[in-house]
Amino acid sequence: MRLSTEPLSIGPNLAGRDSANRAAEPVSPNEPPLPGLGHGIKPLGQIRDSYIVATDEEGLLLVDQHVAHERILFEQFRDSRLARATNIQPLLIPATLDLSPAETESLAIIQDELESVGIETMQLSGRTIAIKTTPSGLASSDAIALIREVLGVVERERRSFSLEHIRDEIAASLACKAAIKVNMPLTHEKMEWLIEELFKTQNPMTCPHGRPIIMRMGLRDIERGFKRPV
Ligand SMILES: [Zn+2]
Repeated sequence: MRLSTEPLSIGPNLAGRDSANRAAEPVSPNEPPLPGLGHGIKPLGQIRDSYIVATDEEGLLLVDQHVAHERILFEQFRDSRLARATNIQPLLIPATLDLSPAETESLAIIQDELESVGIETMQLSGRTIAIKTTPSGLASSDAIALIREVLGVVERERRSFSLEHIRDEIAASLACKAAIKVNMPLTHEKMEWLIEELFKTQNPMTCPHGRPIIMRMGLRDIERGFKRPV
């Protein structure tokens, strides 16, 4: 089985949908609504160490392992910001980065937010800052990339940004960097854990940046594909 550019041609219902779209779909009697999804899912294996193949009563599911983990971490980071304060690692050699004058101004806006996720920064001299701590597991190069990304958001939304949105951006950026990657073999237990945790999230169908997490091929698509009389 290969996942290339053709998956959508297998059947219109295979495409992952976000919950909003799904809720708007007419629900047929044989297909449980979204809350039923996630029940009794059994992972079978991976495609190219990137996509989990799973089944449930209703058919076949493909789960993008990176965005699935991203969704799980995003909600954890967003919802329990202070609880993470225990998982902070001091950097023995602080990572430094040079900011533009505008970025230096923007940093003041996001500094507290960064700190609440475990990224503590300190002004060294002029416009050079040092990263003193990171959440454990986050490489300092990723912390630098995260700071630059979030500064970019503040820059772009100078007049209209909200702290709430900045928090979400930080949580999403952190989640992306900390999530398991594609091309990574997973044990059966890890796949089970991932699917279980995914369905505890508020929105298991869509990643924080709006990409689908699950593609589904329902029983009806399968029967149609095999030209079974219905
Ligand atoms: Zn990502």
